[in-house]
Amino acid sequence: MTRRDEPARSAIAGADATLSRLAATAFALAETSDLAALVDVCGEAARGATGGRDWRFLALDPENGALHDGSLEGPVVLPAPGGAVEWLLLHEAVLLRRTVAADGLGDPAPGAVLGLPIRSGGILRGLLLVTLDALPAAGLSDPGVVVARIVADQCAIALERHAMGSELARQRERMGRLEVRAHAGEELFSDLISVVAHEIRTPLTSIKAYTETLIDAPADEFERRREFLHVIDEECDRLARLVGDALDLSRLEAGLRLLKVKPLSPRALLEDLALTIGPDAQRHGLTLRVEAQGAPGEVEADGDLVKQLLLNLVGNAIKFSPPGTTVTLRAEAGAAGDDWRMAVIDQGAGIPEDQIEKIFERFYRIETKDGRRVPGTGLGLAIARHIVDLHGGHLGVANGTTGGSVFTVRLPRRQLAPGAVREVARDLVARPEALDLLDAAVGMIGEVMEAEIVSILLVDPAAGDLFVAAARGLDESARARRMHYRSGVTGAVLSAGRPVLVENIETDRRFGKKSHPQYSTKSLLCAPIQAGGMIVGTVNVNNKRSREEFDEADLALLTSLVSRLSAVLSRAHAYPEAPGVFAEARASVQSAARVRGDLWLGRDELSRHARRVALSLGLDGAIAGTIAHLASADGASPWGGDGEERAMARAFLLARGERLDGSGWPRGLSGADVPTGARILAVIDAFAGMTHGRPYRASLTVDEALAELRAGAGRLHDAAVIEAFAASLAADGWATPVGDDREEAA
Ligand code: ADP
Repeated sequence: MTRRDEPARSAIAGADATLSRLAATAFALAETSDLAALVDVCGEAARGATGGRDWRFLALDPENGALHDGSLEGPVVLPAPGGAVEWLLLHEAVLLRRTVAADGLGDPAPGAVLGLPIRSGGILRGLLLVTLDALPAAGLSDPGVVVARIVADQCAIALERHAMGSELARQRERMGRLEVRAHAGEELFSDLISVVAHEIRTPLTSIKAYTETLIDAPADEFERRREFLHVIDEECDRLARLVGDALDLSRLEAGLRLLKVKPLSPRALLEDLALTIGPDAQRHGLTLRVEAQGAPGEVEADGDLVKQLLLNLVGNAIKFSPPGTTVTLRAEAGAAGDDWRMAVIDQGAGIPEDQIEKIFERFYRIETKDGRRVPGTGLGLAIARHIVDLHGGHLGVANGTTGGSVFTVRLPRRQLAPGAVREVARDLVARPEALDLLDAAVGMIGEVMEAEIVSILLVDPAAGDLFVAAARGLDESARARRMHYRSGVTGAVLSAGRPVLVENIETDRRFGKKSHPQYSTKSLLCAPIQAGGMIVGTVNVNNKRSREEFDEADLALLTSLVSRLSAVLSRAHAYPEAPGVFAEARASVQSAARVRGDLWLGRDELSRHARRVALSLGLDGAIAGTIAHLASADGASPWGGDGEERAMARAFLLARGERLDGSGWPRGLSGADVPTGARILAVIDAFAGMTHGRPYRASLTVDEALAELRAGAGRLHDAAVIEAFAASLAADGWATPVGDDREEAA
């Protein structure tokens, strides 16, 4: 190489630096899926390309819109009003400007800031901020800035890939859980069938045999007849017990038995039980002893279920104890102060240590040494454990020191929300804006669901039960009512974390109760509200204005509204200090009410509009089809078509980020250089972005979004495309075409 080549060589070296930076980034992104490494590579590349001072990455939590420093595990970052971060969240576009104080980018402040939204597939995943000593002379056209934008786009894809990987893993896990559940269900079913075949056949055979004997017996042999009738009676009892137990257990397992929590006196409970079971104990030659001196005066529980649980335990103690021994029933205060305990102690054979856990499994029965047949179904303890679990308690067994077994039940004295849930509720309730927000939400839900009665039940952080935090249409007495944490439909929704549709309260097996006079329809909806990862309350909806019953579609709508509410509450919880967060949240929730229909204006519907717009602008059917495809949610699937169509699709795709005034990305095309297909896609994209709310930003109504598009007509978007799109929406009854407005004004 000669001296004359020097300038050329340095030009190549300059190009090389950019290329090698991009190559290194692309390589790193292809080679690793470690999030921290990816972000680090991108941040460094963007800083290097722009000759910047420093960089910072903020990860956006898609669940609640909270920003975290570095990664989703990092500390929460508050966007300062008027700062670069706030601007980026609002506009989701590149920002390049002189630093202002609100940017909070360190001391001494850098001269300028480059803000890059990390966005792919229409979803914002984070923000990359690069601090610069000064504004580049060429602004956004500065080659370094262009490289940084390319890096940001690459970073977005990598983050998307990472998010998809996590989502896939979550789905796999969910499938696995469903499979296990389905399997368990099948197992229970086949167990039931076999136990029915086996256990029912024996009593049926003897009933049949004795009945036949009776039919043939001479009329005067009354004493023999009485004996046979007695056997038949006992066998019928056995059948009834089996059917009853199987039914009880399947209801408990399916979550179909709701708790009816009431105040209850342990002493009265034990005395009542002794009366019920006393004769049975006597028949077996046993002494029944009740010890309730140490019991608390009053506890909260479902009395019927607790009695059933004790009947099962005491019934076993009687069955498995030799005559002449004593069965003790004891109730006492628990060691923790907020619990209480019951014990059923017998002097029978006890339980072999290796089978101590097995006896709680359904249908499990210990073989007796003497082969003696003790009546039973093997379901009693499984039922008992379920009942205790429903109350949030514990059931255990140990062998007594003097022989026999000791079954111990530990139950909470009151049915209250756990501490972690109360913590989150405390944060929310402490702020009047939160209650205002719930009030707005109740109004919104009533409007969208077309329901007369809507209420939000929230965990009371101090008392641990639930109170009506906001309501529409409830009378005074219902508003003042408090609910036990584990009680009723609310309790079931809180513990299962799933929304519930009750089609008819009176016939629903879970309820079996009379409809409240205030409810003019018999169906209701209840969905859990989540904040900060905890279920803190429920939204309850009754009385459709149309007097129809709610259905699955209503449940789906309520679920989507409540998840919006949960997202904004989570955001408010994540940002305890932010002044504007509740105003934003309120706007976000209210906008959902105003755009009820827009909830359904999904990508596929927009794709249909894109086709119509293309056709109305005179493009042919094949081109319109390509545009519709690119506008649809699965724009990633193969385009099909011939080479020419593919080339066209590519041209549209590459230009959908361009703007008529040349301010777009990536090539800064302007005017006639932006193909019509790309203009249509740009309008559809912008509309989708404005009408689909984010947890950190209110969504606009169809009318508002159109007005916003029109404000940029000619500058950002093509006016003819906007009007064709407005007409297409109007044809579906969405918006008022601009012509109508003018007529009215005239
Ligand atoms: P069932 O009593 O109908 O057989 P359970 O589920 O109530 O069904 O009990 C399962 C098994 O546990 C019983 O069959 C018995 O073998 C054992 N068991 C339960 N309670 C006692 C007890 N108090 N003493 C000895 N064995 C017991």
